[in-house]
Parts: sequence; structure tokens; C-alpha cells
Amino acid sequence: MHSDLIGKIEKARRYAQEPERIVIGALQATFHGGNSDHSISLKDNHWSCDCSFFRMWHTCAHIIAFQKIFDLMLAPEAREATSPISNTDEMAGALS
Ligand SMILES: [Zn+2]
Repeated sequence: MHSDLIGKIEKARRYAQEPERIVIGALQATFHGGNSDHSISLKDNHWSCDCSFFRMWHTCAHIIAFQKIFDLMLAPEAREATSPISNTDEMAGALS
């Protein structure tokens, strides 16, 4: 194999251990929820999901799960809940 490519593969291996190097700007994904699939997207650091909970709260379990998984790869704004209620405990309290 070409030595330049070997060097790149080694570098990639190191980079793969450092997810904070990556900032996801936009994404589109399907989330297999407990009852049905949901379409999630991130654009300009704003999340959206087609589930009914999101329509009311501007965040949901699917987005919160995404935020946990991709935490280090999200811009600070995208790590926050998009809901005016930023505290998930408050949201849980409002539902009970
Ligand atoms: Zn959702």
C-alpha cells in the first residue's frame, strides 16, 4: 500500500477516538421508536421530529436520545433542548 495512504489511515484511527473534532451541521435520520418510526432532522442547530410530543414541546425522547449519543459532535446550541422549557425535569413534571 502507498505509504501516504497508510499515514492517513493511522491518522483516521486517531481521529476516530476524538469525536469532539467533528461538529454536525445538519442531519436527517429515522428513529425506530417504541411504537413507530419517526423522522428527525437537525438544521441550523434546530431540531425537528414528526412525533406528536415534539409538536407541543419542541423536543422529545427521540431528540433527547440523539443529543446524548452525539453530544460531543453537536454545536452548543444543538445540545440544548429547543423547547422554551430547557429543563427536562420540568417537562416530565408538566406531563405527570
Ligand atoms: Zn420525537
